[in-house]
Amino acid sequence: MNIQPRAIAAASDGVFIDNRWQPSASGATLDVIDPANGEAFTRIAAGNAQDIDAAVTAARRAREGEWGRLTATERGRILGRAAALVLENFEELSALEARDTGKPMTQARADITAAARYLEFYGGAADKVHGDMIPFLPGHFVTTEYVPFGVTSHIIPWNYPAQMFGRTIAASLAMGNACVLKPAEDACLTPLRLAELLRDAGLPPGALNVVPGRGEEAGAALSAHRGIDFISFTGSPEVGAAVQTSAAAHHIGCTLELGGKSPQIVFADADLDRAMPIIMKAITQNAGQTCSAGARLLVEESIAETVTERLRAEFPALTAGAPEDDRDLGPLINPRQLARVRRFCEQADADAIPLIAEGKLDASISENGNFIAPRAYGPVPRDHMLARQEVFGPVLSLMTFRDEADAVALANDTEYGLVAGVWSRDGSRAIRVARQIMVGQVFVNAYGAGGGVELPFGGMKKSGHGREKGFDALYEFAATRTMVIRHD
Ligand code: NAD
Repeated sequence: MNIQPRAIAAASDGVFIDNRWQPSASGATLDVIDPANGEAFTRIAAGNAQDIDAAVTAARRAREGEWGRLTATERGRILGRAAALVLENFEELSALEARDTGKPMTQARADITAAARYLEFYGGAADKVHGDMIPFLPGHFVTTEYVPFGVTSHIIPWNYPAQMFGRTIAASLAMGNACVLKPAEDACLTPLRLAELLRDAGLPPGALNVVPGRGEEAGAALSAHRGIDFISFTGSPEVGAAVQTSAAAHHIGCTLELGGKSPQIVFADADLDRAMPIIMKAITQNAGQTCSAGARLLVEESIAETVTERLRAEFPALTAGAPEDDRDLGPLINPRQLARVRRFCEQADADAIPLIAEGKLDASISENGNFIAPRAYGPVPRDHMLARQEVFGPVLSLMTFRDEADAVALANDTEYGLVAGVWSRDGSRAIRVARQIMVGQVFVNAYGAGGGVELPFGGMKKSGHGREKGFDALYEFAATRTMVIRHD
């Protein structure tokens, strides 16, 4: 695949602190592996606690210096310029994202478009966040304002590096915080390149620092660092719990965007022609490695056979292939993830859960890539691991429900609470059901809705807490300060 060498070279130079590439403290590096063929194609720095400390120090300096003195409008203009630079470098960034994560080019392009949109959205929003005037006692005047925390830390996963960068960094910068980002060791090239573009857009030194490295080293050092005022974490529930414990140890707040086991609830009167392609896309997009993947297909008993037949007819066309071949899905991110998904399938097979349909592998894939054909199983018993645990791969679990009450109970019968879809031509019922599902985002006769930069997103239950995207995210990165003025 044609990736401009500059992007790779820049990304492998070290840690990005104070707007400069600097050698990491230890000089250690990690190989960057192409998930589509298993080959190392560049290296990144393996940052450690010393690098994190340097990054936090630079961020504090920026917050107390030039960056902290900019007006909200000036901050917004920098983000707006960065959005334009992302679009100017669109193909380079898309190719980089595809190579690093393995996702098909069309999906990589959508992610880079979203990254630009986040910068544009939060750039525009920066000077539109304002407080209130609150009626209070006679002779008193009360106002509120939103004050940035200071230095925020951001730990993101490998599945959507460019989008995650956009959504968490742009919102925090818009509010005036200085940021330290620890991207995931498995895919972090676009965040490194996006940091350069923010510098080129005029972001002052230290306002954004990026330290790639291992989670247990750089990530743990960042979440434990006493110079951090807030943590934004996206990743697994296990690591999220450790990060929240770290935050609690020094009495700071955090947002956690964790996993999901999201239901798609299909009533007998649903428009299946509209629903089926979206249902299949929601489990194959990014090879199912999406926190909001529509992993549980809950179908009203009376149409279970019809939906099963449609899956038998339509699912086998879904094809996994290399990013440049732009099939429905790419490889999984690494061999460990592949082994994990295979374990779920092997257990389902061992437990004689019917395999409804299986997609295919493109003939030209490398045997060293982490490819797996997508699968749809069902009916899956409600207590099976396939029904309960997050697979984080392209495996759909069909289950049936009797009636509306059973649909709601089944949808909520999960530790997770991220996203849900409700499919019905009965508008009242669809809304009634949607409002009973304990999730942070629910779609009616739609799912995914094109990224939704503007739409608040986040979990309930084990899916985490706090909101990113939309205006809500801005308030996550600031504290309300109430001022009471007596004038009688
Ligand atoms: P992960 O939790 O292993 O890693 C996420 C990030 O945390 C990485 O940058 C990693 O280096 C870092 N990390 C690992 N150990 C750490 C530690 N001890 N201290 C601090 N940081 C540490 O998750 P993953 O395997 O990269 O991603 C898959 C999981 O993330 C899935 O469960 C998925 O559902 C979830 N996820 C959620 C969302 C969301 O928005 N809710 C988005 C993407 C992924």
